[in-house]
Amino acid sequence: MTKHTVRTNSPEVTTKLAVRLGELVNPGDVITLEGDLGAGKTTFTKGLAKGMGIRKNVNSPTFTIMKEYRDGRLPLYHMDVYRMEDSEEDLGFDEFFEGEGVTVVEWAHLIQEQLPPDRLGIRILRVEDESREIIFEPIGDHYIGLCKELIYESNCD
Ligand code: ADP
Ligand code: MG
Repeated sequence: MTKHTVRTNSPEVTTKLAVRLGELVNPGDVITLEGDLGAGKTTFTKGLAKGMGIRKNVNSPTFTIMKEYRDGRLPLYHMDVYRMEDSEEDLGFDEFFEGEGVTVVEWAHLIQEQLPPDRLGIRILRVEDESREIIFEPIGDHYIGLCKELIYESNCD
């Protein structure tokens, strides 16, 4: 599997990378975000939204599971499934994965079975106070291409 690791040394650098990804994403793209609490998943999502032209403030949807933003270039469906550990039921995620928008899922492994086979996996590891390792794990040709473009441009690989 193609894997790219980028080290960022501040939230601003993480945001910059995410903004660029937000400029590159296509309708129907699915991005999963993994990482401990405080790793930077929501920070990354905010940057992504900015790159998609969304002006509304994106904050963690932990208590609502899903928030939708429609004021950008494409709709953004931001999900945080942290509280779904015990849920086995199909909550109709497909509607979003197959929709015109871009779906971002924080804690995606909790709904592993319901994820589409092709997707862009992103893992954020806290290295130090302001240092993070952002690991891109694209699955499928589309996401491998997207990732290459992003990494090539950010000149980090
Ligand atoms: P999560 O959604 O993974 O729980 P958040 O994005 O809500 O995490 O919080 C990450 C916190 O870590 C923010 O306060 C952010 O400012 C801080 N931070 C420090 N360094 C970085 C970095 N390099 N990248 C992203 N966030 C960082
Ligand atoms: Mg979060």
